Amino acid sequence: MLKLRNIETFYGNIQALKNINMDVKEGEIITLIGANGAGKSTTLMTICGVTKARRGEVHFQGQPIHGMTPDKIVALGINQVPEGRHIFPYLTVMENLDMGTFLRKDTENIKKDLEYIFDLFPRLAERRHQAGGTLSGGEQQMLAISRAIMTRPKLLLLDEPSLGLAPIIVKQIFDIIKKINKENNTTIFLVEQNANLALKIAHRGYVMETGSITMSDTGENLLSNEDVKKAYLGI
Ligand code: ATP
Repeated sequence: MLKLRNIETFYGNIQALKNINMDVKEGEIITLIGANGAGKSTTLMTICGVTKARRGEVHFQGQPIHGMTPDKIVALGINQVPEGRHIFPYLTVMENLDMGTFLRKDTENIKKDLEYIFDLFPRLAERRHQAGGTLSGGEQQMLAISRAIMTRPKLLLLDEPSLGLAPIIVKQIFDIIKKINKENNTTIFLVEQNANLALKIAHRGYVMETGSITMSDTGENLLSNEDVKKAYLGI
């Protein structure tokens, strides 16, 4: 579904991504783990066209997308929940969710998707008229994920959904990521520092170190890999 080939991304003279090759199959949960500054967010930004690769190619469903603008890439069905959530603080929960539907005209399905979201996140249903900025950190993360689901993405890119959240909320959010993947067949590309949780829900994982992919395997195999245990699982 998604292919990255020989991707090299720079910020000025600094090379953030070095010869990145990745494959994501339809229906998979893929995770990309690595230390701070390894290049994980840059990989997501390169896929969704916000940052342009200097060399290499990105293909989505057989189509080259590395030259496209971010809005064209969203229209193809790739949506990103960026690190730090970026909800609209002065808009209500409902209005934030409406922002996810601006490319859609299928009113009936939009209604169904809203019901689905409120079913997934009853807390958002209770707070539908509350301003986004007054929600707790966990609720804002739920809202950011929900807004992305409202675009009916084929591929959902999640950047550090666990960041700054209490363990119990993180567990809820990861359960829901699994649910969205299973029930809607949404392919998930998950960037995480919480390697333990991410590898547990992922079908496959990639390990990134200073701009390069150093390992790739099933989530299960990476969890039991001695190097991964030492470097990322604190074991
Ligand atoms: P974290 O987990 O801390 O978010 P990351 O793995 O997502 O880290 P990136 O944010 O992709 O890493 O950063 C990769 C490298 O690129 C880092 O050295 C970072 O300092 C650099 N970098 C990222 N964004 C910019 C920018 N806008 N301008 C210059 N350098 C940048």
